Amino acid sequence: MQEAEQIQLIQNFSNAFGPSGYEQPVVRLYRDAVAPYGTTTIDGMFNALTARNGNTGKRPVVQLDAHADEVGLLVQAVRPSGLIKFVTLGGWVPTNVPAMSVTIRNKRGEYVQGVVATKPPHFMTAAERNTVPQIAEMSIDVGSTSREETINDFGIDTGCPIVPTVACQFDAKHGVFFGKAFDDRIGCAALVDTLATLDGEALGVDVVAGLSTQEEVGLRGAYVTARKVEADLAIVFEGCPADDTFEPDWLSQTRMKGGPMLRDMDTTYIANPQFQQFAADLADELHLPYTRAVRTGGGQNGAAIGYWKGIPTIVVGIPVRYEHTAFNYTALSDFQASTQLVQTLLRRLDAATIASFSSVD
Ligand SMILES: [Zn+2]
Repeated sequence: MQEAEQIQLIQNFSNAFGPSGYEQPVVRLYRDAVAPYGTTTIDGMFNALTARNGNTGKRPVVQLDAHADEVGLLVQAVRPSGLIKFVTLGGWVPTNVPAMSVTIRNKRGEYVQGVVATKPPHFMTAAERNTVPQIAEMSIDVGSTSREETINDFGIDTGCPIVPTVACQFDAKHGVFFGKAFDDRIGCAALVDTLATLDGEALGVDVVAGLSTQEEVGLRGAYVTARKVEADLAIVFEGCPADDTFEPDWLSQTRMKGGPMLRDMDTTYIANPQFQQFAADLADELHLPYTRAVRTGGGQNGAAIGYWKGIPTIVVGIPVRYEHTAFNYTALSDFQASTQLVQTLLRRLDAATIASFSSVD
């Protein structure tokens, strides 16, 4: 894929509205982008599976994965004042929510601008200034003055989904994107780039790309796609939280402009060590920067896919700063190194190589 196309694709995915369970715009964008490269089917959870053109049904199947959803919020109820009580979709911490600019998709499918309401400092007691409110006590204001106006005029009621309002920007001089939802829209773009780049090439494996939903609420979509694809090997593209802004150099394992992060372990998953080493050796051969990561927190779709049939699985993480907040950074060079690594892996994989990852000898 041309660099200009990559930049546009990443920006489009970042801007797309799609918290967990409400990913339709992201799936539409994906479906249309991959239409030339395979056959896509979409299920009732909005999981999209794309069988690459040229798949034979006779070779080992590699499942590529990225998740469509982003962390967001969901309207629980409209308060008598017209303010909106909400719950979280995915892992937010309360300190990152107040005063956030948000977009709500109303019952008519229109997008409404709002803000997470805070009490003006003029009215706060000394104790309130030093306390983080609980999410259950927070509200969103859309500029309404009554419950009736919020429900009937703004069209907002129980079950309307919400995401941060952020327009993705690309700083061409520094090669860095600023926007929301790079977890995992940078992975969605990597899926598209991989299908586009390999289009027409003869491979030793069949490839099925899975855009899975509801990852942020418990890897739910990937449990479904794994059962459908029944792959022999899996590679997960994940926007992974960068640690380079707070960890010392010796402990930092996911760095912006540090290349892909190959995850050895997290709380849900241990990578197949032979496949992991094969990927690391390939990155060395290609002179690509990369890091390996042993994490004491977090989880991702590699667990849901890898453990359905016990297949070798790795996670290729693209570093994202400030995940699970409204505003993230991610680097074009990390996207390109990650996609190059996975695309070269797909060119190298065949039945014998995949079988070697399961060897205990
Ligand atoms: Zn993610």
